[in-house]
Amino acid sequence: MKCALVTGGSRGIGRAVCIRLAALGYHVLINYKGNEAAAKETLEAVTAKGSTGELLAFNVGDAADVQNVLGGWIENNKDNHIEVLVNNAGVREDSLMFWMTEAQWNNVLNTSLNGFYHVTKQVLNGMLLKRFGRIVNMVSLSGLKGLPGQVNYSAAKAGMIGATKALAQEVAKRGVTVNAIAPGYIKTDMTAELNEKELAAQVPMNRFGTPEEVAEAVAFFVSRGAGYITGEVLNINGGLHT
Ligand code: NAP
Repeated sequence: MKCALVTGGSRGIGRAVCIRLAALGYHVLINYKGNEAAAKETLEAVTAKGSTGELLAFNVGDAADVQNVLGGWIENNKDNHIEVLVNNAGVREDSLMFWMTEAQWNNVLNTSLNGFYHVTKQVLNGMLLKRFGRIVNMVSLSGLKGLPGQVNYSAAKAGMIGATKALAQEVAKRGVTVNAIAPGYIKTDMTAELNEKELAAQVPMNRFGTPEEVAEAVAFFVSRGAGYITGEVLNINGGLHT
C-alpha cells in the first residue's frame, strides 16, 4: 500500500491535498489537531475518490504526541511505506512585533517549523531505506517577502524554506525530493476574516486562489516525472510576487 501523510489534512489546503492524492491512488493518512468532524469529512471525500484513508490525530508541535501516534503507526505498519509527506499544518497569529507575546511567537514557530522537524524525523528513515520519497512543505509568500504583522509567521516559513533547501541536498542521492510551495492568498478558514475584496485588488489575477489550485502543484511535485526537481520553492500567488 503506498501511503501519503498530510499534516493539517482536516481543512483548507490540506483537505484539497488529501483529495488530490486520493485521486492518485494513495492511502491517505489525514492528520489533524482537534477538529475531528472536519477530518472525517476529508476522509469521506477521500473514499469518494475510490481510495482509502485513515485519521491520525496529533499535534505536530508536540514531540511526544508525534512519537506516540505517528511513530506508533509506523511501528504497526512495517509493510506500508509513507512515500509522500506533505508538511502542511500551520497557524497564523498576527500581531505587530511591539505587541507580540511570547506565546504568539512560540505557537506559530512551533507548529510550522518544529512541526516540520518532528514529523519529518519520523518519516524520513523509511524513505531513505526505500530509496524513494517526496516531501512537500507548505510555506508562504510571507516567508519569502516578509509581511508586517507577521514577524512570527514570516520567520517560521522562512525557516522551513531554509530547511527545505538543506534537506534536499542531504537526501538527493537516496531518491528523496524535498520541495516547498509558497501560496499567496488562498480561500480557507485561515484567510476567512481578511478583507478579500481589498486584498484581491492587489493581486494581478484579482482574486484569491483556491485550495485545489495548490493541491495541483503538490500532485506535480509527488509525481515520478518531477524526480529531478528538489530544493525548489514554487509560488502560487496569482502574480503577487515578492
Ligand atoms: P486552515 O484552513 O486554517 O487549516 C489549518 C489546518 O492545520 C487544519 O487542518 C488544522 O487542524 C491543522 N493544524 C493546525 N495546527 C496544527 C497542529 N499543531 N497539529 C496538527 N494540525 C494542525 O489553514 P490553510 O489556509 O489550509 O493553510 C494550510 C497551510 O498553508 C498552512 O501551513 C498555512 O500557513 C499555509 N498557507 C496558507 C495560505 C492561505 O492563504 N490560506 C497562504 C500561504 C500559506 P484542525 O482542523 O484540527 O484545527
